[in-house]
Amino acid sequence: MSAKLIMGTEIREEILEEIKKEVEEIKAKTGKVPGLVTILVGENPASISYVTLKIQTAHRLGFHEVQDSQPADISEEALLALIDKYNKDDSIHGILVQLPLPKHINEKKVLVAIDPDKDVDGFHPINVGRLMIGGSEVKYPPCTPAGIQELIVRSGQDTKGAEVVVVGRSNIVGKPIAVMMMQKGKGANSTVTVVHTATKDLASHCRRADVLIVAAGVPGLVKPEWIKPGACVIDVGVNRVGEKVSAKTGRPVPILRGDVDFDAAKEIAGSITPVPGGVGPMTITMLMKNTLNSLKFHLGL
Ligand code: NAP
Repeated sequence: MSAKLIMGTEIREEILEEIKKEVEEIKAKTGKVPGLVTILVGENPASISYVTLKIQTAHRLGFHEVQDSQPADISEEALLALIDKYNKDDSIHGILVQLPLPKHINEKKVLVAIDPDKDVDGFHPINVGRLMIGGSEVKYPPCTPAGIQELIVRSGQDTKGAEVVVVGRSNIVGKPIAVMMMQKGKGANSTVTVVHTATKDLASHCRRADVLIVAAGVPGLVKPEWIKPGACVIDVGVNRVGEKVSAKTGRPVPILRGDVDFDAAKEIAGSITPVPGGVGPMTITMLMKNTLNSLKFHLGL
């Protein structure tokens, strides 16, 4: 048996088209478009490439986008003042501070300074609380878990009463996706188990999963014999395991591997996300969706 591939690259295009259409409709009715500011401190190459991708996507969707690049030695006070300026700016609906920040800046202090109603990353404690309460309280679900849930829903996976096992308990992936999958509602309503490094028998938990979500950051951690035949496997892991020369550009590019032994797992799973091309493309997509939802919230739509 060969599993159905859940392609984030295709689902991303579907969602971006939906967002673009809605942006055009709102613009025609109200003259307003979603506004997203990305604040980049310093010149970390990985951060620059993430921010560039976010800006390109926002631009493609017709958003008002602002890139605010600040020197690495900006003071914490000045950064907080900048955030306050965007909190008060009516043309901005989403504020994103690219992490990591330089060591002299307290990340926590910066994240809580963002107006929770413009916190499209969903990292503010108020939005974490809203996620925990669930239902209509949820304003901005964190982007990677929200993308995982979209992949599950749009691939037609039934989750009501399903056994969902989440490998990993980080604040950005494991914990929020576990909370989201146990809430009542579409693409959720599941029985959720969370496993981590202190779990006694990882394999036996994974084997029970109708939906297995793996976010451990360990290449090839999940073996094919840990997978229940027919299960839906969502591999969040993005691990650099080497370099190769790109046939297109002739330049070295990283070889990426997920947390699941993909080649063997696809012969057992019912559906599976590849790495790259599965969960990865969904994160920025959901950031755009949160920013559109913020515009709608601020317009009272
Ligand atoms: P993280 O903060 O390092 O957390 C990893 C979690 O996995 C921890 O809870 C850890 O358990 C658990 N874990 C690690 N090794 C394990 C093992 N051998 N057995 C059982 N549990 C184990 O990582 P993260 O930020 O959640 O990211 C996880 C992976 O997803 C990474 O590869 C990352 O690059 C990728 N990721 C991808 C996207 C995307 O595609 N957009 C976004 C975010 C992350 P303990 O708590 O016990 O230490």
